[in-house]
Amino acid sequence: MKMNEVKCPKCGRADKQNKKGFTAVGSQRYFCNACHYKYTPERKKWVYTEEQRNQALQAADARLLRQGCGKSVRNE
Ligand SMILES: [Zn+2]
Repeated sequence: MKMNEVKCPKCGRADKQNKKGFTAVGSQRYFCNACHYKYTPERKKWVYTEEQRNQALQAADARLLRQGCGKSVRNE
């Protein structure tokens, strides 16, 4: 994977991605010319280790479950 390759989170295309200014906090904004979706790819400022990433993901999962988001998958 190329370092500066960005992918549209909506349609998943890696081509036709244009830079489109910055967000209020200074993150690079992108614009997808395929589906006209504006997004901000993962922030490069914060570098997480694999472990920190997993912990953050688990915390986010736990939060979602606690919120009782009806879409959580239950294997019961
Ligand atoms: Zn798109």
